[in-house]
Amino acid sequence: MTPTEYIWMNGKLVKWEDAKIHVLSHVIHYGSSVFEGMRAYKTERGPACFRLHEHTDRLFDSAKIYRMEIPYTKDEINNAILNLIGANNLEACYIRPIAYRGYKSLGVDPTGVPIDVAIGVWPWGKYLGEEALVNGVSVCFSSWNRLAPNTMPAMAKAGANYMNGQLIKLEAKSHGYAEGIALDVFGHVSEGSGENIFMVRNGALITPTFAASILPGITRRTVIRLATDMGIKVIEQNVPREAVYLADEVFFSGSAAEITPITRVDNITIGDGKRGPITEKMQNAYFGIVEGRTEDKYNWLTYVPEYKGVPA
Ligand code: PMP
Repeated sequence: MTPTEYIWMNGKLVKWEDAKIHVLSHVIHYGSSVFEGMRAYKTERGPACFRLHEHTDRLFDSAKIYRMEIPYTKDEINNAILNLIGANNLEACYIRPIAYRGYKSLGVDPTGVPIDVAIGVWPWGKYLGEEALVNGVSVCFSSWNRLAPNTMPAMAKAGANYMNGQLIKLEAKSHGYAEGIALDVFGHVSEGSGENIFMVRNGALITPTFAASILPGITRRTVIRLATDMGIKVIEQNVPREAVYLADEVFFSGSAAEITPITRVDNITIGDGKRGPITEKMQNAYFGIVEGRTEDKYNWLTYVPEYKGVPA
């Protein structure tokens, strides 16, 4: 991680090295946080956040599920993000807003524990490697399932969910794969540790439904919209594991992973083992918009205004 100058904490810009919390904060012991991950891209008109409003909406949705009252409005969070990118003078960055239960008492019951909010921004390259975007990655199915319904809500982007994500990722890496794909507890394909998954079969896109314990990905939503507008059929359905092996193309979608081709699953070659034409088409459409090279007809970019403020 490349440190930047400022972190936004509870309404103030503080120095990166001073952005600390107490070790007895509720979040540290119980994973009680909800957060977001998004990117700002370098464009000719300066840095632009991709789908800022949708990410902030999802942050508030995650908080609602966990009965957490975020003590800021969505506009305040959006402005804080834009201002922070300006204050740190970044051309492009990853953006991590987090709301967490802070320091007061340490019972499981969080009543009365303050909800603190912090935002960090820093430069972050390609999540699965630069080369992965062209050559694809080799992945495996995980022996760990995604969260069962009625245990932990997969639709919330909550810190604690990523204990499950870590198991999936570390197991995959220990076997030499770039990433793991988890099934849900009913055996249907769910998602990667930090990505949604798409398959291409006979020219149509297939992706698991929300009921398969997935995070409702904003990149997933982006791919569905772009594909539909290109006349590509998109089917959201339960997906059996073996359908992934038989797909013509497979790819991951995510704010960090962007659109990454998957060329091998469990050491079975997908299609001809190369990035497929529909995957490439989706990448071109996605990167064209996020990098400001093609018209942003969906209004997905929020440009960072010129930074004028003096940090508090
Ligand atoms: N699933 C999980 C578990 C994730 O962590 C992410 C990354 N936030 C995604 C899917 C993709 O979501 P998005 O496209 O909104 O980044």
